[in-house]
Amino acid sequence: MPVVPLGELLTETPLYAPMEIKDEDKSLMINLRRDNIQVDCFCLRCERETVYKTMRIIGSGAGRPTPPKDWMFRNGYISPELFCARCGYAIVTEFSVRDRILTKWGQLPSVADLSGAELRTFRNVLSRNDYSELNRAVGLISHGVGIGSFVYLRRIFERLVSKYATEARERGMLSEEFDTLRMGEKIDSLKDFLPRAVYEYRDAYSILSRGIHELSENDCTAAYPIIFAAVRLMLEEEVHKREREKAEADLKKQFQAIKSGLSDVKRGS
Ligand SMILES: [Zn+2]
Repeated sequence: MPVVPLGELLTETPLYAPMEIKDEDKSLMINLRRDNIQVDCFCLRCERETVYKTMRIIGSGAGRPTPPKDWMFRNGYISPELFCARCGYAIVTEFSVRDRILTKWGQLPSVADLSGAELRTFRNVLSRNDYSELNRAVGLISHGVGIGSFVYLRRIFERLVSKYATEARERGMLSEEFDTLRMGEKIDSLKDFLPRAVYEYRDAYSILSRGIHELSENDCTAAYPIIFAAVRLMLEEEVHKREREKAEADLKKQFQAIKSGLSDVKRGS
């Protein structure tokens, strides 16, 4: 599979999946090997999404021999350490480069631990079944099981999309033939209901329409982050919606209490 973007590579990519380093990955490899970088990820200590940064000491290079032009592609080991900008909690990763193949072979805390903690924030907006299947999907992908995890994720994705479809249908804004459409077309017709990014990357979901016998481990591993990001967006939206509803209900309650307090005062006077 190709090398994935830096944030994903450091915190979400499963171990032991070989990635082919192309010439266009030059700046990513320089970032990975030498630069100070920052990525967004869930912090187990802060229990929220935060910014992580490396704390590498970068010298001017003065006095050192000039490295060869393709130094960023050379064989060797890379061990980036990232620290939560809020609390200092560390994510440690290990990579190897052999003949232009990049392999991640270590991450602490594990992909499953990081995503498992993030998933707990979605427990209240998922059915028990969806929650356990989402955990299973994350557990499998972190052990490099592409197809198995993808199938679980696809089921959750489809159920979430059908929730949006129900909402659209109730408002009379869904065509009769919706159920017969392919996933890309379904997303297209739910444009006004789904989170914007889910709609924007609708072409990425073509893999969702493939039969199970057509899926390869590599296709699934490559598509997993895109589908997972869409699931996460839909769930985050649901979490925000519930928080807003709760805040509105609390406000109403407080308002009623103040109103009845005032009328008691009036009656007493
Ligand atoms: Zn933290």
